[in-house]
Amino acid sequence: MILRPRVASKELLLLRSLNARARLIEKEKQQYYNLEKGYEGEVQFDRYMQQNLLQDRYIVNDLLLEKNNKKFQLDSVHIAQSTAYHFEIKNYEGDYYIESDRFFTFSGKEILNPFHQVKRSESLLRQLMNSLGFPLSLESYLIFVNPEFYLFNAPKDPSIIFPNQLNRFMRKLNMKSSVLNPKHLKLAEQLVSLNLVDDPYKRIAPYQYEQLQKGILCAQCYSVDVIVKNTKVNCDHCGCSEDLDSAVVRSVEELRLLFPEVRITTSMIYDWCRVIESHKTVRRILNQNLTKYGSNKWIYYE
Ligand SMILES: [Zn+2]
Repeated sequence: MILRPRVASKELLLLRSLNARARLIEKEKQQYYNLEKGYEGEVQFDRYMQQNLLQDRYIVNDLLLEKNNKKFQLDSVHIAQSTAYHFEIKNYEGDYYIESDRFFTFSGKEILNPFHQVKRSESLLRQLMNSLGFPLSLESYLIFVNPEFYLFNAPKDPSIIFPNQLNRFMRKLNMKSSVLNPKHLKLAEQLVSLNLVDDPYKRIAPYQYEQLQKGILCAQCYSVDVIVKNTKVNCDHCGCSEDLDSAVVRSVEELRLLFPEVRITTSMIYDWCRVIESHKTVRRILNQNLTKYGSNKWIYYE
C-alpha cells in the first residue's frame, strides 16, 4: 500500500518550466537533465515493484529527513513485517568505473559515489528508526534500473542490484511473507510526517515574468509549440492532444509555482497562456475550475 506516492519534485517542475521558457545556465541545464532522468528511473522502479511485488508493505516514497542535524534523502522506503527496505534508485546510462573507492563516468569525470550515499542514508535512517522506538531490521539497496548501464570494477556487494539481477532479487523478496499491523502503519506515518519541506527557489538563478516565453507547455514533451483548436490543445512537436480546460489549469499551477505571490486574474492567465483567442474563454475556464474571490474588475482566483 502506497502511503506517500511519488510526484515530480518542485525543483524538477521549476527547472522543467524554465528550461522550456528561458535560457538556463549550463549548471542548471545539467541539473535539470539529471533530475528528469532520475525521476524517470524512479517511476520505472515504482512500476516494476507494483507489477512484481507480492508481499504486503507500506510504501513511502521520496523523503527528505533529518537526524543529528544531518539531512538525507530517501527514494523509497518499504515497511514489511520484519524488515524495512530502503531503495536508492539510479538511472545511470552508459559506462562508469570505480577506482580506489571513487566513482567515475567513462570519460573520467568523478561523480558522487552512490555507494557512500546509500551507506550514509542507511546509517541515519537506522538511527532515526531506533529513536522512534521501532525495532525493525533495515536493509538498504542501491538499484541501477537502466539496462544500458555498465560498471567496471563493480564491488562484490549483495546490496547493489544491477538491471539483470532485478528479477532474481524480486523473487527472493517475494519468498518472505509479511503480515502488517497498526505498528507498521504508525512507523510509516511517522516517516511521512517527518518529511521536510524542500525550498528549491534559493538554488535557482533569479528569473522574471517578462523574460519568460509565454504559452501553454505540452503536457507530454513540455514544448511551447502548441495550438488551440476548439476545445483541444494540440502539440506540434509530439502530436499529443489535451483538453483545453486541463491545459489551462495546468498552466495556472505552473505560473503559481514559478511566482508563488502572483494573483491569478483572467488577464494574467490570458497573457500567460498566449494561445487562447478570447478573455471570455479564459474567464469561463477559471470560473469552472478555481475559486473566485472579489467582484467586478477586482476578481482573482485561487
Ligand atoms: Zn508535445
